[in-house]
Amino acid sequence: MKDLLLATTNAGKIKEISEILADVPLRLLTPADFGLDLVVSENSGSYFGNARLKASQYAAAAGIPALADDSGLEVEALGGDPGVHSRRFSPTPSATDRDRCQYLLEKLKNIPRPWKARFVCAVVVRSPSEELLNGWGECPGEIIPDFRGDNGFGYDPIFLVGGVNKTMAELTDIEKNALSHRARALQAALPALYAFAQA
Ligand code: IMP
Repeated sequence: MKDLLLATTNAGKIKEISEILADVPLRLLTPADFGLDLVVSENSGSYFGNARLKASQYAAAAGIPALADDSGLEVEALGGDPGVHSRRFSPTPSATDRDRCQYLLEKLKNIPRPWKARFVCAVVVRSPSEELLNGWGECPGEIIPDFRGDNGFGYDPIFLVGGVNKTMAELTDIEKNALSHRARALQAALPALYAFAQA
């Protein structure tokens, strides 16, 4: 079986990507398996650009192909913010996921609801020398003012999934992994991932 390094230290992402790719005949490894602790400057300004930076730096460091995702939350009333800066969206460097949700709600509090939003995700697989495949996924919904649910990570508790009366954090793992932006980006990349696994 071929090895593929998941180019992230985000435990929530590792869990989701591993579950979504469970049937693909690949041995998924994590940075911890290589003792890697890279700090990648995600400064390209685009989701695909940042995913490429992460995939190429992890692939180079480990010497095997790496899969990176770059994702974000885009809120219509904020002109698409926090967008590509979702992870660092708070003036406090030590902010937790909950702090970032609260900071977002503070920005929205004087704007009339519904607060339409979407999660987006770019996935890239790179070998140490070239890009092998990529995929894009989106999940529409809205931000709500209350925290609901304990699953997932990031903005999940305040993101009501479109067409489903549940927040991302109220979905089971199986449900989130069927309709999330990350699931959709990986599904788009699935034929190429199978081809990579079997080449
Ligand atoms: P990055 O892709 O590591 O740059 O981080 C994207 C950021 O967007 C995360 O740290 C979260 O704050 C947010 N985000 C991305 N995907 C999700 C998700 O599935 N649920 C909740 N928040 C997410």
